[in-house]
This record gives sequence, structure tokens and C-alpha cells, in this order.
Amino acid sequence: MTSLRFGAATDTGKVRANNQDAVLVAEPMFAVADGMGGHAAGEIASEVAVESLQASAPSTRGDLVMAVRQANRAVWERAAGDPELRGMGTTLCAIALVPGQDSEDSEDSEAVPSTEAGGTGGDQIIVVNVGDSRVYQFHDGDLTQITDDHSLVEDLVREGRLSQEEARTHPQRNILTRVLGNEPDVEVDSWELMPQRGDRYLLCSDGLFNEVDDDRLASVLRRLDNPEDAAHELVSLANQGGGRDNVSVVVVDVVDDDDRAEAAAAALAGADAGATSTVPSVPRPTSSVSPAVPTPAPSPPAGGGPGPRASSSSATDSPRPPKPRRVTWRSVLFVFCLLVVLGGAAGAVAWFAGSTYYVGLDDEQVAIFRGRPGGLLWVQPTLAERTSLPASEVPPARREAVNAGKEAPSLGAARKYVAALEEQAMAEQRRTTTTLPPAPGTGTGAITTTTTAPLGGTTGR
Ligand code: MG
Repeated sequence: MTSLRFGAATDTGKVRANNQDAVLVAEPMFAVADGMGGHAAGEIASEVAVESLQASAPSTRGDLVMAVRQANRAVWERAAGDPELRGMGTTLCAIALVPGQDSEDSEDSEAVPSTEAGGTGGDQIIVVNVGDSRVYQFHDGDLTQITDDHSLVEDLVREGRLSQEEARTHPQRNILTRVLGNEPDVEVDSWELMPQRGDRYLLCSDGLFNEVDDDRLASVLRRLDNPEDAAHELVSLANQGGGRDNVSVVVVDVVDDDDRAEAAAAALAGADAGATSTVPSVPRPTSSVSPAVPTPAPSPPAGGGPGPRASSSSATDSPRPPKPRRVTWRSVLFVFCLLVVLGGAAGAVAWFAGSTYYVGLDDEQVAIFRGRPGGLLWVQPTLAERTSLPASEVPPARREAVNAGKEAPSLGAARKYVAALEEQAMAEQRRTTTTLPPAPGTGTGAITTTTTAPLGGTTGR
């Protein structure tokens, strides 16, 4: 038989006037609720949720999910019936040890080995969550967060737009995306785990993990064997860290697991040797969808619901749909900055490509082009000026450079280069002499004349 040992502590902290957290320690069920709302509303919300949960006696995962939905309903009805409590809400995370299920009842239990594989059809630990209170598992010295926070900053972390460190101090870290009491029904996350001797479960409100990082949480759980001592030490560390919020901690240890862990490990080793089983090698927690609940969702009472600071998604009997991606000011700013950077880069390329000139050939005529020879990316060169220098007159020593496109830093420099070409061409022409026959009556003396090619200037387009 699985047996547990546990301890709990809760404190107002160093800043808040009252403690709006509530803790449930009622073996085999444990919970932490973090209430919110003006005046005493937050306190009432968390108390109502915990009392409602305590009144249930879940024996399956579906039972516990349903119990949380009923707790949501209780908070919502209480808020709807009292104007002073309008807007109140609460988080709720809980674990419960329940008897093992038949295979058809646990077909969605991805986190545990099957009965056939491990002979582990015994007790299960069910974890449920709504909001940003957390359940961690401490297994073999490693601390793993099982639950997902239903908060704005955690959505940003999951989308890779915020680091865990940034989330810890983000000014909007208190904005929740799902709580109890906001709507008549609520979607509940749930997990099913196999209890293993030596494992510890840590339930806590955000007043703990916003003040104490995971390494220090793990250090305390590693160091203090007694769960009551560990819970009080963690609350003390949160207060030393600033105590800016109410802080609540429950530590639950699995002290006996009926040797199921060993049986499962042996069965898995055998399965590995046969290489025929698809059972996971380690029964690590795996997030799974809310199971179908045994009764339909209650219909909302007339009069509408409260409007707390957070929004809530409604419960479903089908697998949880993917979370809709929201457009936030951060994503708009990111797209804007990206466009500015891309626009700047495109402008720089266009400016660089258009700020230089080269002397080349255009239809067997020397010409000046604006741009880079052959173009740069999408910016193609354009004809700036034609010259009257034919390609055939280009001095042989310069012909290769002109064919390839002789670059010049400015239009003036390009013109100078063309002028130099023309001068060289003229010099070549002067060296070409033609001896004409003597004209009648002028004797026999030879006349040497120089023929010059028509070398005009450049013409603008
Ligand atoms: Mg809190």
C-alpha cells in the first residue's frame, strides 16, 4: 500500500496585510489556492475553493478534475451572489493519491507504465491545476515543474519571447489567463503519475517561486528530510527573499510504494531486453489533456458572472485545443523593429550601389554607368552618360579594364577617366602618320599630316 508523509506552512509575508492563500492538507488529497480580489474577497475565494475540494472524495483522475470544476462553480456562484465579492477568483493546484484504475479507465495515462508491463495497477498520484500555483516533483535529486502556469508571462516564456529569469520580475507576472471563479466552468489540466518511494511533491503559491529560485528549492528538499521542516524552511526563505506576497507550501513524500517502482523497473528492463515494448523507460510526468468528465458541465445561473482581473477558458469534454496565439504589443513592436532593420538594410544597399559609377561599353561605345558593374543584389546599373569614344578607339592597354567596367567613386572621376582615354586615343592617332603624294607644282617634298579621330566630349542622358 502506498503511504505518504507530509508537512505544510503558510505565511502572510512581509508586505501584504492579509493572507489570501489557502492550504488543504487532507490525506490523501493536498492543495494550495492563491486568492485574488479586493478587500477580503481573495481570502474568501481561496477558502471556498479549498472547502469545496475537501468535500469531494475523488477515486479517479476524472473525479478530481470534476471536483476542481465544482470548486470553480462554488467560487463563481459565491461571487455572483455578492456584489462585494464580484471579481474575486483563485488559483488551485492539488494532488491526490487514488486507487489504481482498470486499463479502460486509464487509457489516457501516458505517464505511467501499463499494468501488463510493470504489474503496477496500484495507486496513482493525480495532479490537477488551474492558475499559476505550482506542483513540482522532486525525483532522484532533480526538481521538475509538473504544472504549467496559466499566466501571461508563462505564455511568453513558452513562446520563447521571455526567459524564466525575466518572467520572475516581469511587471505583468500577476496577470493570469485562467483562474477559478471567473466563468461558470473551467478547463482543468491534469496528470497521472506513479508514486515512487523517495519522491517528494512540492505544492506552492507564487509567493514562493517568485522569491526562491529552483536551485534553492531543490537544495532545501535535498537537505531537509522531514517535510514539515522543509515546508517551513521554504516559507522562511521566501520571506528572506523579500516576502512580497503571501507564501504557501505543502510537501508530500512517498514513503512506501508497495515496491511498485522496483517491479516496474524490472519489467521495463525485461521489456527492453526483448525490445518489443513501447512502455516509457522512466515514469516521468507527462502533461496530458483533461479527461472526459462523468457529468455534463453545469449551466450558468442567470445574471452573468463576475469580472475578475483574469480571463478563463471554458471546460471541455474533449482534448484541450491548442492555446490561441495572441497578438501582444511585444509582437507588434518586434515586427515593427524587424521592418525598420530590413528597410534600413535595403536602403543602405541601394545607396551604396547607386553612389558609385563605372566606365564601360554600351553598344560598342564607351559610356558612363551609375552603379556597380554587373549590379549589386537587386540594384542594376543604369546608363548615366554616353561618350563619343568608340570602343575601337580605346587604347589597347585600357581595353580590358573598360570591358570589365572601370569603377570610379564619382561621376566627375568617371568623366576624368573618359577624358584620359580620349587623350590617349588622340595621341595614338597623332602617331599614325600618312605620307601624301606631292601636290602638283609643289615640288617633291613630302607633307606629313596627322589625322585625328573625331573625339567629342560626353553627353548627358
Ligand atoms: Mg500570490
